[in-house]
Amino acid sequence: MNKIPVSVLGATGVVGQRFVRRLASHPYFDLQFIAASERNAGKSYAQACEWRLSGKPYAGFADHKLVPCDPGMACTPIVFSALDANSAKDIEPLFAAAGSLVFSNAAAFRMDEDVPLVMPEINPDHLDLLHLQRARRGWTGGIICNPNCTTTIALGAIGPLHRAFGAEGVLVTSMQALSGAGYPGVSAMDSTGNVIPYISGEEAKVEAETRRILGTLAGGLVTDADFKISAQCNRVPVLDGHTICLSLRLAGKPDAEEIADALERFVPGTSTLNLPSAPQRFITLRHEQDRPQPRRDVEDDSGMTMHVGRIRNCPVMGVKLVILGHNVERGAAGGSLLNAELAVQKGYLPDFRTAVVSGSIGTDDLMARGQKTFRELQYTNLMQNSEALGQDGIASSNGMEKELEIWK
Ligand code: NAP
Repeated sequence: MNKIPVSVLGATGVVGQRFVRRLASHPYFDLQFIAASERNAGKSYAQACEWRLSGKPYAGFADHKLVPCDPGMACTPIVFSALDANSAKDIEPLFAAAGSLVFSNAAAFRMDEDVPLVMPEINPDHLDLLHLQRARRGWTGGIICNPNCTTTIALGAIGPLHRAFGAEGVLVTSMQALSGAGYPGVSAMDSTGNVIPYISGEEAKVEAETRRILGTLAGGLVTDADFKISAQCNRVPVLDGHTICLSLRLAGKPDAEEIADALERFVPGTSTLNLPSAPQRFITLRHEQDRPQPRRDVEDDSGMTMHVGRIRNCPVMGVKLVILGHNVERGAAGGSLLNAELAVQKGYLPDFRTAVVSGSIGTDDLMARGQKTFRELQYTNLMQNSEALGQDGIASSNGMEKELEIWK
């Protein structure tokens, strides 16, 4: 298959850098545009931010010029958004309206009833909400969200157990890594040797998103799963990896052994799709009494597997366990990529955009498909920003100018 051109919005941040590293060698996607705030547009990736990950610095994109988060500048069929919720609220709809499928990590649209909130292994069918979204909003693209990082990791166990037995009540107590707060995040003075028992908005997100993802899609809308869930979220001095203690009351009152068996036997909704970012094992069961631990376990399987351990009977709720997952990989960049791979496999990609940007169809075909306006929008934006973009911008706009000439 031809690789699909993609962009990353918010590429300088904690999540954005992980997107760039993953996309540098992705079998479906070709990273074309790296975008950040206006203040960094025109700078090289290396000038705009400090690379904070292992491996090749800037994943080989050090000299790549940053563009602003504008659909005319970063126009690709698929866009990965690592923007904060405030910026995402304004920017993501512009891309969706211009025809891009936006895979968003932000909270801005997660709970909108026509926006798929998807964890591929648990509720791949909810992608179908995209039809409603496009019909209602008149978009040719769309917005697809992955859950908040803590929700994602808690769902690693709650999801399979709800499917196997039916949840009646869930208590979630998180110990969340510092990287979850972005960069520079919580100051060293506040976090070192400390536990902060408050993360703004987090508990409400975990409670609402979990019920939504485990809800049922019927009649074009999702009805939330009907069980009580209560979350307490804490920031702890760990770099990467959220550890979550779960206590569950489940129908039929399964014991610890039955819980381990159900987790072992869970078949993810993606099991036959061979998605490139899927972990070898959705859940890794740990039998040692002192695991999982973030420092030792969180990077396993590129941070995409989730570790479940300490499964015990609970005298209050029935069963309890500990689950660990990588908040920035499984809970953000990797999870979002998995959603995009699923959407591509399921045929949700607006095909003309792939063709336009990859050049796999000719100018005549483009005209026939009425996409001249799309190219013009690109060109206008390039011209407006050509000063900031320097030589790269001029080269691109010259190319587009020639293309537009043919259309005249
Ligand atoms: P971050 O490190 O603070 O990065 C934010 C990014 O957004 C930067 O690239 C920044 O670009 C860009 N940005 C800020 N204001 C902008 C504007 N007005 N216009 C365009 N770009 C703008 O944040 P993060 O931790 O990577 O989180 C990104 C998103 O993912 C958030 O919505 C967050 O809630 C979500 N998320 C994070 C995690 C996690 O574990 N960190 C997990 C799940 C979900 P500049 O450098 O140019 O300012």
